[in-house]
Amino acid sequence: MTIQQNVSLKSFNTFGLDVKAARFAEINSLASLQACIKSGIKPILILGGGSNMLLTGDQQSLVVKNNLTGINVIKSFRNKVWVEAGGGENWHQFVGWAVQNGLGGVENLSLIPGTVGASPIQNIGAYGVELKDVFVRLKAVSLETGKTKTFRRHDCRFGYRDSVFKQEERGKWCITSVVFSLTRHQHRLNTSYGDIQKTLESNGVEKPGIADISRAVIQIRSSKLPDPAKIGNCGSFFKNPETSPAILQAILATHPQAPHYPLQNGQVKIPAGWLIEQCGWKGKRVGNTGCYEKQALVLVNYGGATGQEVKNLAYAIIESVHQKFGIELEPEVNLL
Ligand SMILES: Cc1cc2nc3c(=O)[nH]c(=O)nc-3n(C[C@H](O)[C@H](O)[C@H](O)COP(=O)(O)OP(=O)(O)OC[C@H]3O[C@@H](n4cnc5c(N)ncnc54)[C@H](O)[C@@H]3O)c2cc1C
Repeated sequence: MTIQQNVSLKSFNTFGLDVKAARFAEINSLASLQACIKSGIKPILILGGGSNMLLTGDQQSLVVKNNLTGINVIKSFRNKVWVEAGGGENWHQFVGWAVQNGLGGVENLSLIPGTVGASPIQNIGAYGVELKDVFVRLKAVSLETGKTKTFRRHDCRFGYRDSVFKQEERGKWCITSVVFSLTRHQHRLNTSYGDIQKTLESNGVEKPGIADISRAVIQIRSSKLPDPAKIGNCGSFFKNPETSPAILQAILATHPQAPHYPLQNGQVKIPAGWLIEQCGWKGKRVGNTGCYEKQALVLVNYGGATGQEVKNLAYAIIESVHQKFGIELEPEVNLL
């Protein structure tokens, strides 16, 4: 393990922001992670695929790129297997491995960028499925002491794009592996969300399997979201806000068509993309940044943007949504 100095992170973050890490190391083993911790250089920033971070400037921390790989079946039950995957495994390739091996549970999460190790951080979710639905446990190494700890589901306190690792345990751990519970047969297929059913029908699929669902999700996502290899972005920049029925009523009075979804806790969820679009941001360009033309929730780097520019745009959007609707948007992306 070598610690390099002044390394550009441009190719390590999907916004394509050209910032530097004062110190940078890639880890391929637990021993090299321990060596980074023992180096005493603090703080340490763990980097996965860089697909959920806005690097607002040069990083003074020791940036550690997680390349811990390996996918192993560790337990077999009649209809389930437990699979342990290294934190540095590419998430979409892990999903592909599961689908190829006939294992169900993660097919709706196809084509989400990033790593297995980052998947519990914000309890990734898409098309009606969340990471917590298949999660068993994870192993993490303390960036303070170097000791390993196992976190079970209740320790992680998963919420909507949230976990303990975005709250009080933020920045304290390197997640080295995650164990998933996947089905062998009798998969619980989830085709009711978004355009999945419609896409299956147009693909001529009457009795879908997990591979058909994965293919449909890939098709839908490719048509709606910008490919970070072509245009820098981090997917949804903001969370969909939860608000009170009273605020919703006020919005419906002027916007009767406002989309909204009741939640079990009595609150309602309003799509952030709709709120942003109503404020006139969809497709709008500000310097080198802007709101993606097909989805207002996605902020993009048209090339040469700085992290500060993207952050300024995000705050201008938060401000205008607050002024118009009285709702405070919260970034889903980690600002660093
Ligand atoms: C086009 C696009 C579409 C997207 N669609 C979705 C979607 O549908 N659903 C969804 O939930 N997300 C989505 N995302 C966001 C992103 O892909 C996920 O949040 C993903 O899990 C981030 O993984 P990463 O490895 O890139 O994390 P990074 O961006 O590298 O890191 C994110 C945060 O986690 C920390 N971290 C990373 N790895 C570890 C580790 N091993 N241990 C401890 N801390 C760690 C980092 O320090 C940072 O704070 C999308 C992003 C893009 C670009």
